[in-house]
Amino acid sequence: MQYEDLTDSTLSTFDSYDQHEIVRKISLSSGLTAFIAVHNTNLGPALGGLRMRPYGTERDALQDVLRLSRGMTYKNALAGLPLGGGKAVIIGHASTQKDDDMMAEIGEAVESLDGKYITAEDSGTCEDDMVSIARATEYVVGLPPQHLEGKGFGELGGNPSPLTALGVYRGIQAAVRFKLGRDHLSGLTASVQGVGAVGLETCKLLKQDGVNLIITDINNAQMDMARDVLGQVTVVSPDDIYSAPTDIFVPSAMGGVLNDKTIPQLKAQIIAGAANNQLLQNYHDQMLSDRHILYVPDYLINAGGVICVGYEYFRKSGYNPLDFDMTRTSMMAHVERIGQSVTELLRYAQEKRLHPGEAADRLAEEKFSGRESLISSPPEAPPGLGHMSGGKLVH
Ligand code: NAD
Repeated sequence: MQYEDLTDSTLSTFDSYDQHEIVRKISLSSGLTAFIAVHNTNLGPALGGLRMRPYGTERDALQDVLRLSRGMTYKNALAGLPLGGGKAVIIGHASTQKDDDMMAEIGEAVESLDGKYITAEDSGTCEDDMVSIARATEYVVGLPPQHLEGKGFGELGGNPSPLTALGVYRGIQAAVRFKLGRDHLSGLTASVQGVGAVGLETCKLLKQDGVNLIITDINNAQMDMARDVLGQVTVVSPDDIYSAPTDIFVPSAMGGVLNDKTIPQLKAQIIAGAANNQLLQNYHDQMLSDRHILYVPDYLINAGGVICVGYEYFRKSGYNPLDFDMTRTSMMAHVERIGQSVTELLRYAQEKRLHPGEAADRLAEEKFSGRESLISSPPEAPPGLGHMSGGKLVH
């Protein structure tokens, strides 16, 4: 394994480059290439997942890692975690080109950064890959509980998806209170796009509260499973989910779903779901406001998963500058506070006459740049950079 650090002169041609602290290109023994990007460590070491995907070109992979690592800085800041933003990508097919030794090599690359970057699973990587990475470095989270139990902290770790769903549910409750003035969800309708790991858990929580569900998924087996688990639900085709008569639209599948084509179809008054990068472009935030649809920024409401792996890291490393109580109960309470954060963000956006996505970016920037005291007169966003909750900037 060999690596080189890319310099400003190479990186300045990328529109997602934002003075990242470190961008390392890794040439793996297998011949594959990987990149690790550390965007900002003002709040602490950079935490973000490792993605494996057959990018068309190295440039595409680099663009992605720059964008995603920057997104993690915003997400971790707004989640109140003492963590910065980073990300790693491998150019390759996860189904055919991945093996344990390659993952251990990635572990060596992570280790070479001396703790400035902590990795975790993302699309194309899984818990087992994290175990392989752990052969070479301690700076890895998202390990299976059985791996952690032997080290005395099995109550943290494990699948973060139910925690992501819990945060989304608390965020939906807060948005309903803010927009509809209701303290309970009973009798409302939610349309859920994608009933995978997070979507199905979110449905279960909503159903318990008496919410009527409209669901869709492109995977029939997943739909059948969801119907079995949830009982009475309305099923629509993937194309019909946007125009379904609903109060809350809950994107839980993929990014870019709020765009020129879909926004005019929406009947929902609130959009609040786990999917990353829901706004296709920044201006879609404005388009939703124009239609009086309340958009809850994705990277705020879907932070349950990163809070979960963040606690795993704090517990395992002893790094705990904010004196968090390192128990599963406290970690869950942190996730539940996403509801309160959503309320605060929506009030702030209203007071400052900002769209919610813009407001989220400003609050995050104030946190990670140490300018929280400027909340009463927020600075302008830096020129040339899109806002994080739109334009595919956040994983
Ligand atoms: P998943 O793969 O388990 O579930 C996604 C589901 O969406 C699948 O069942 C898939 O068939 C379905 N789907 C895909 N395209 C669709 C379409 N066009 N219409 C309807 N359904 C479609 O993924 P997940 O872990 O549940 O994550 C869902 C979203 O939430 C992703 O955007 C992910 O990045 C984001 N997210 C997840 C977590 C987490 O903890 N898992 C954390 C933060 C953000």
